[in-house]
Amino acid sequence: MSLDIQKIRGLFPVLHQEVHGKPLIYFDNAATTQKPQSVLDALTKYYEHDNSNIHRGAHALADRATRYYEDTREAVREFIKARESAEIIFTKGTTESINLVAQSFGRKFIGKDDEIIISTMEHHSNIVPWQMLCEEKGAVLKIIPINEAGEILFEEFEKLLSKKTKLVSIVHASNALGTINPVKKIIDAAHAVGAKVLLDGAQSTSHLEIDVQALDCDFLAFSAHKLYGPTGLGVLYGKRELLEAMPPFLGGGEMIKEVTFEKTTYNDIPFKFEAGTPNIADVIAFKASLDFFKSIGKPAMKAHEDSLLAYANEQLKDIKGFIPVGTASDKVSVLSFNINGMHPFDVGQMLDAKGIAVRTGHHCTQPLMKRFGIEGTVRASFGVYNTKSEIDKLTEGVAQLARLKNK
Ligand code: PMP
Repeated sequence: MSLDIQKIRGLFPVLHQEVHGKPLIYFDNAATTQKPQSVLDALTKYYEHDNSNIHRGAHALADRATRYYEDTREAVREFIKARESAEIIFTKGTTESINLVAQSFGRKFIGKDDEIIISTMEHHSNIVPWQMLCEEKGAVLKIIPINEAGEILFEEFEKLLSKKTKLVSIVHASNALGTINPVKKIIDAAHAVGAKVLLDGAQSTSHLEIDVQALDCDFLAFSAHKLYGPTGLGVLYGKRELLEAMPPFLGGGEMIKEVTFEKTTYNDIPFKFEAGTPNIADVIAFKASLDFFKSIGKPAMKAHEDSLLAYANEQLKDIKGFIPVGTASDKVSVLSFNINGMHPFDVGQMLDAKGIAVRTGHHCTQPLMKRFGIEGTVRASFGVYNTKSEIDKLTEGVAQLARLKNK
């Protein structure tokens, strides 16, 4: 079934504007997606009608706010098919979710000479927390290499696995290349040596159907702002037995059962990991984003995004000087490229002048750029509201720029 994209575009107020006198073409969805009116309305409604602190108030507004907050937790559970909503922890974003696992699970269960495996294509937020942990604990970070297409070398991954491996932390879909990693195979191989697996779902959750029970991943981290939802909000999914065995990350209100100066007992999950007043408004509004996914259906969204990517590849591939970066066969709708003889930043600026918003640079994946021997790329990433005629404008712009340097 094909989607009514014009109708979908109508739900996103921000898309209907001009930049530099040209209609906005928003191709920076891998950095953050735009928000439908329903999410904006949910934010306003919360502040206009329901604003209250949650979980401890004895009045109507507090009850309401608590109920809406917990409704979102249940909606997230359903979205990733977790067994129970207690396994859903709200954080500030993917970055905080990964740091939570590093500081809590990592500090307790990873010791000297233990090994953590990540891949060459990780976002800095799935590199630095592990480097910090390894430095503190004397653990060792191992890196899965990739091929020229930007796909991990699975046999090399298998060689890295051993009894020393305590954790494999890997991106499900690369933000810089779009590559979808074979995570089920990775999880099964890691479990066979007794290692746990964290999936960085920052780019995958908006495109791919996620079933954490079928995948059997131990942790999944993602951000609401890449799911047509608010900024400053993320999720950490973890299996109950792991979350229960892990010490708290932050200490404070909400995460305790009882505090005395002699001893504090901690709250049950998920509250043990949600210290302080949480991001109530954004959590409540996030439910509207999840409803947006439900109303359209992820498979239909993905089919549309895949068709945009295929169309863009087809239109751009014969332009002299166009160099795609990341040509894996299995990708989400991320198109990274360079133009021969031009700096990606200059390409980005010139496209911006035409109203086309793309990302340029290293995309927080400096080691990946180094692997390809480049400083950065231009990245056009497509969301559900993008159209083929917008891609025609990109093609026109890229062709014009490429001609400048590639006679
Ligand atoms: N991992 C990946 C693959 C990402 O794309 C991003 C966001 N660019 C992150 C982690 C970090 O997410 P956030 O900035 O929302 O914490």
